[in-house]
Amino acid sequence: MRRVNIFGATGSVGQNTIDLISRAPEDYDVVALTGASNIRQLAADAKHLRADVAITALDHLLPDLREALQGSDVVAAAGANAIQEAATRPVDWTMSAIVGAAGLAPGLAALQQGGTLALANKESLVCAGALMLETAKAHQARLLPVDSEHSAVFQALVGEDIATVERIIITASGGAFRDWPIEDLPMATLDQASSHPNWDMGQRITIDSASMFNKAMELIETKEYFGASSEQIEVLIHPESLIHAMVGFTDGALMAHVGPPDMRHAIGYALHWPERRHLPVDRLDLARIAQLSFRAPCETRWPALRLAREVMETGKLAGAVFNAAKETALDAFIAGQIGFTQMAEVVEDVLDTMTAASGHIDATMTLDNVAEVDHVARQTATRALQKRAG
Ligand code: NAD
Ligand code: MG
Repeated sequence: MRRVNIFGATGSVGQNTIDLISRAPEDYDVVALTGASNIRQLAADAKHLRADVAITALDHLLPDLREALQGSDVVAAAGANAIQEAATRPVDWTMSAIVGAAGLAPGLAALQQGGTLALANKESLVCAGALMLETAKAHQARLLPVDSEHSAVFQALVGEDIATVERIIITASGGAFRDWPIEDLPMATLDQASSHPNWDMGQRITIDSASMFNKAMELIETKEYFGASSEQIEVLIHPESLIHAMVGFTDGALMAHVGPPDMRHAIGYALHWPERRHLPVDRLDLARIAQLSFRAPCETRWPALRLAREVMETGKLAGAVFNAAKETALDAFIAGQIGFTQMAEVVEDVLDTMTAASGHIDATMTLDNVAEVDHVARQTATRALQKRAG
């Protein structure tokens, strides 16, 4: 029996993780499941998987969670501190699938217990990549990528010497607006941005795919996870989303990872690693698919990619600024305060302002400093938004 924690259990990645675990419940001892507003789902899964504790991030929903868990042995808890406490319990495997910077602290706490952290929360690596890797090393914990591109790179690297890697190519579907005329992008609505051509994911990452902020985050994630430089990492538009990443070696060989766009592959790989086990994902019929297509991304259409390159060059806490500004801009777009293309303008404003002001970005990478920079970047983004509104 492996003891497991699932952070962000009610989300898209969390539900896919539960789907896999539910297929072999006798193999897992579920300790904590966490969620936020979806109390009904959280309680149902906690009861079904016989979790020790179910935690909502939202304090005011504790009475609802208690009521939903009545008659079961599952303990109800609420708040960021309760999530943090659950992360300090010794487990063998943790899924980090909270969305946003809120996933960083529980992920770090889990790494401090040793064990394996399956990392879907890309914000952790964007905000504090070096800290995550150092913490894993210091506590002999294992960090496994769950983002599909990074899982693909990780798999292409099995048995290889990382020193022989020339380049890493991560693919992008191009999102909802890949074929739109560029001049129409400012008019893109929330509904239009919230539907992905190939993947079924949470709303925030779906919008980030349309703006290419998701790929921008993944560029930074690739640099941090695999220690590659910005020049070594390429983005390739691949509308079919079947090749997730490719690794190019010094002898010219290119190893591609091909699979259906189903997160249960990357989650299952991290769940069973270092073994491969049967997974309930579609098998590709390449003769029927017949063709795969590729094109270079246009940085004028997707300024997020250019901004990510700048962040990679600057390093240090620039990633935490980038992420916080992006989260704030995304909130504003979801709330209807700014247009689709203004998200990148706000992020660029914040990066410019905070790079010019000395101190913040150059601070040592500790959890406290990342939290402080995150806070200042959100305030700076709010001012940039107010400037636009006024
Ligand atoms: P989602 O929005 O579907 O789910 C997010 C989860 O986080 C939910 O359980 C929610 O209750 C919880 N949550 C939200 N705010 C929280 C807070 N402040 N504190 C604690 N918990 C909170 O998101 P998702 O699409 O499952 O993505 C989760 C993470 O995985 C993100 O970092 C995303 O970028 C990454 N990711 C997702 C996919 C995918 O296919 N969905 C693929 C690759 C990477
Ligand atoms: Mg991805």
